[in-house]
Amino acid sequence: MSRVAYVNGRYLRHAEAGVSIDDRAFLFSDGIYEVIEVFDGALFDEAGHLDRLARSAAELRLNLPMGEAALKFVLREVVARNRVRFGHVYLQVTRGAARREHYFPSPGTPPNLVITARPHDPVAGDAKARKGIEVITLPDIRWKRPDIKTVSLLPNVLAKQQAKEAGAGEAWLVGADGFITEGASSNAWIVDAEGSLITHPADSSILCGITRTRLLAIARAKAIRVIERAFTVAETYAAREAFISGATTLVLPVVRVDGRMIGDGAPGPTALGLRAVFHDPVASLG
Ligand code: PLP
Repeated sequence: MSRVAYVNGRYLRHAEAGVSIDDRAFLFSDGIYEVIEVFDGALFDEAGHLDRLARSAAELRLNLPMGEAALKFVLREVVARNRVRFGHVYLQVTRGAARREHYFPSPGTPPNLVITARPHDPVAGDAKARKGIEVITLPDIRWKRPDIKTVSLLPNVLAKQQAKEAGAGEAWLVGADGFITEGASSNAWIVDAEGSLITHPADSSILCGITRTRLLAIARAKAIRVIERAFTVAETYAAREAFISGATTLVLPVVRVDGRMIGDGAPGPTALGLRAVFHDPVASLG
């Protein structure tokens, strides 16, 4: 079965789908995106992702080409046509195609909407979580609005590649103030010696992960002490546990940071416990 992509009202064979070379995201990274997990055929935390999409659009004064109900319909259609039961949907909206000029194109320029879906193997994800990943720390050289989910990801791409070349699964980005903001494509968490769960506050220096929001609710429901504050690299080295979160990785334990063992060097109970109940609809209810 060949993959199907949705592009501006049409369902096309993935390999043949495309937009104009004048597309503003191609020319200027002038676009936004979302990645939504497909869990047992359903779009997990869809409302949170669509709310964040609307926020990103508003922050960039970018028009969404359709309302929420229509978008939900197309998302389901793409999932169904690609027969994805476990995987994720990728959605990208750009400011459309227009002659290359920095100014916004004329108001009538239609945005470009592309939606694709891809399966993943949940068993492989769980195996990875049981092993844990390594992380390296790097300077956070991104722009000052990473809270907007734009496709402008060059610093993230460079950080992720550097991590890969160092044998690590993620890079944690360190601000000029010495505090870790988040990962190149995930939110960053530690558990301190007292068992408190610590993650950066959802201000303009991080992307407020939808997974992060759910994890905070689950942790509070489990009566885990949660502190939303920035933490340093030194605190990370001394942490009892560390992990990352995101819609594709869910909760992934971090067992080494910059070559230093975290805790006893094995995935910790807090991270594994949160991962185990992540999809449980009642886990986040107090
Ligand atoms: N932070 C960054 C920079 C990301 O790219 C992502 C996910 O792509 C996240 C955090 C996690 O966000 P979410 O949980 O909504 O996937």
